[in-house]
Amino acid sequence: MQQQKFRTAVFPGSFDPFTIGHESVVKRALSIFDKVVIGIGENTTKTSFFPLEKRIEGIKKVFEDMSDKVEVKSYKGLTVDFCRSENAGFILRGLRTAADFEYERAIGQMNKTMKPELETVFLLTSTEYTPVNSTIVRDIIIFGGDASKFLPKGIDIKKYL
Ligand code: ADP
Repeated sequence: MQQQKFRTAVFPGSFDPFTIGHESVVKRALSIFDKVVIGIGENTTKTSFFPLEKRIEGIKKVFEDMSDKVEVKSYKGLTVDFCRSENAGFILRGLRTAADFEYERAIGQMNKTMKPELETVFLLTSTEYTPVNSTIVRDIIIFGGDASKFLPKGIDIKKYL
């Protein structure tokens, strides 16, 4: 029988902040992939609110019991190049709405053109997480609301600021 290949997926995003929606995508993806590398892209167009080091620290804490399967790293440059450096054959993304789909379709198809051997895999959001959105969670935090219901256990937002 042919030996199954070790499958690594990169989950790229800004995770500003990392929410229960992101956490759910990573956990579900572990039934498909052997390893998920959460890649925090240092974006050219979006300036982040939460400091990069704090985001990395917080996400690592969420997956501390699965650190052999979930890694957290930051990267500059193209996601396809980051995937190559991580030996990843897959890009993992979450899909909430039709608007997500249009955005993801363009990125996914352009990545495919640049690196045909890399496949983008989409997981549909679990129903309860569909409205959870980093931009809104960030606003709740900025304006002093309680965002804890939208953040994974292990992320203490006070330490983020
Ligand atoms: P980006 O800045 O690349 O859009 P985000 O950090 O906003 O990155 O999101 C990273 C990925 O997680 C994207 O694929 C996005 O669609 C997905 N995502 C965001 N929120 C949710 C959620 N509530 N449920 C599932 N997937 C989500």
